[in-house]
Amino acid sequence: RFDKDYGQHILKNPGISDAIVEKAFLKPTDVVVEVGPGTGNITVRALEKAKKVIAIELDPRMGAEVTKRVQGTPMAKKLELILGDVIKMPQIPPCDALISNTPYQISSPLIFKMLSMPNPPRVAVLMFQREFAKRLVARPGDALYSRLSVNVNFWATCKHIMKVGKQNFKPPPKVESDVVRIEPLIGSARPNIAFEEFDGLLRIAFNRKNKTLRAAFSIKEVLALCERNYKVYCSLNNIPIDESIAEDAAAEDADDGMDVDMEDENADDDDNDNADEDGNEDGAAM
Ligand code: SAM
Repeated sequence: RFDKDYGQHILKNPGISDAIVEKAFLKPTDVVVEVGPGTGNITVRALEKAKKVIAIELDPRMGAEVTKRVQGTPMAKKLELILGDVIKMPQIPPCDALISNTPYQISSPLIFKMLSMPNPPRVAVLMFQREFAKRLVARPGDALYSRLSVNVNFWATCKHIMKVGKQNFKPPPKVESDVVRIEPLIGSARPNIAFEEFDGLLRIAFNRKNKTLRAAFSIKEVLALCERNYKVYCSLNNIPIDESIAEDAAAEDADDGMDVDMEDENADDDDNDNADEDGNEDGAAM
């Protein structure tokens, strides 16, 4: 019995499990993290190629299945099973490759968690629902270009690998899937800025994506946030606070001429991503 709340759609086509592992180009020295091993279809293939697989599984019944599957084989020694929610873990364990037939409800937080790792894996081969995968590879100007697209393509390169029809899963999901290959920029290629700060900027920019950036940065809450961040920055770096900046923010706020349509600002349109892409409504922390 599979649990839909856990996004359990087990791959029944061995060719797809093979392809996911193959596209990670694993080396015998690699440590692989697999999110959601389920019954172990992808896991056993990764275990054949890598030094070690750390499998993180939320459902203890599935954890027992994958353990049983390798029991008494040389693969057992190479498998480390962590029972728990990968999103609630402080960090994804350090690894060379990340693979997953991703439970659809953690698609966004999983990507964000990986991209924010100080030392991300060399490669991630991940299966997602098609709409989500399209957002990952969207280009500027595409309707699906979003905060997620910018982040992924800023911190990594992302390539579409293959389409996977719903008939390849048991039970079949409602929508089609896609496999993507993400190669995070590492070492000196990785932009030398804090992930959270850049993401905070993007949250503001994409909060109302049909508005100008000037409009986004004229909103009272955003100005207050910028002022707070400025003051924290100054105090952390021993810089005297320039009060005129705070005054400018207040003046900007009082300016009737600003190009924000307040009525529209309060409208609850589909593009409103005030809740971030993983559903947290924690506002735009920069
Ligand atoms: N890898 C298997 C396969 O391809 O046949 C199963 C993939 S199934 C789509 C997703 C798996 O992720 C399930 O086993 C589910 O229990 C597990 N899962 C769901 N949410 C999770 C979470 N937050 N952390 C870790 N595992 C999770």
